[in-house]
Amino acid sequence: MAATAYRSLESLLAAVRACRACEAQLPLGPRPVLRAAQTARILIVGQAPGARVHASGIPWDDASGARLRDWLGMDEEAFRDESRVAIIPTGFCYPGRGKSGDLPPRPECARLWMGELLAWLPHIELTLLVGQHAQRRFLGDRRKATLSHTVRAWRDYAPAHFPLPHPSPRNNPWLAANPWFRQRLLPALQTRVREIVAP
Ligand code: SF4
Repeated sequence: MAATAYRSLESLLAAVRACRACEAQLPLGPRPVLRAAQTARILIVGQAPGARVHASGIPWDDASGARLRDWLGMDEEAFRDESRVAIIPTGFCYPGRGKSGDLPPRPECARLWMGELLAWLPHIELTLLVGQHAQRRFLGDRRKATLSHTVRAWRDYAPAHFPLPHPSPRNNPWLAANPWFRQRLLPALQTRVREIVAP
């Protein structure tokens, strides 16, 4: 396991949940939304929670989450089982709204916490990179010129990573314009998920 400043994942998660590092920038205040257990084998990295998830405190508790589960071929019970699936966004608290939707994840968050959290997740076999922020964080220079090109090049990153577009209904036009995503990427992804979480 990589060096970490915490004695256990539980103590690290308690520190994350008490974080106030960018409180002054958060319109609804801090409420970190994430879940993880050391046994998890799948990691989902998205962007920051929206207002609905901020209110519920449950990751992916919205239409985007329902579509993401569908993409993975997972039922709700498996998706919500943190012993199998860790959910760690690139920003843990709702960042507020800008002119064209929610603001990007706060940059302090991944800088402060992502490395520590990953150090406590030694069994991850598959990391889903949902959206450009996750792809930037995990793929760095290996990304292509655009999100579409990165997702289309998914074979370059599989089987450890699968780059995905955000499953928001706002991306329906993207899904309609890129039928290969449903025809080829999703079947490969679902096979990979079944291999890992099969009972
Ligand atoms: S967004 Fe991240 S860095 Fe900012 S208060 Fe929440 S947990 Fe802390």
